[in-house]
Amino acid sequence: MPVYEYACPRCDHVTEAIRRMVDADAPLACESCGAEVQRQHSTFLAEASKPASNSQPWAGSGGGDCGCGNPHGPCNR
Ligand SMILES: [Zn+2]
Repeated sequence: MPVYEYACPRCDHVTEAIRRMVDADAPLACESCGAEVQRQHSTFLAEASKPASNSQPWAGSGGGDCGCGNPHGPCNR
């Protein structure tokens, strides 16, 4: 389940809560002063959608051009 952050408009205390997505906007009391907190924009989806880098270090290097005799796959020299 995603982690949501809620900021208190009264004391600025940030409360983190692990909730179901359907409960994300349900009322929640500040754990510091008890006022109703407001949900912050989550970075959860942005973090999860980042493309993986360097997954194929040999990609684009022109496999077979290294002279090792293997036209396919990475060169193990
Ligand atoms: Zn508060």
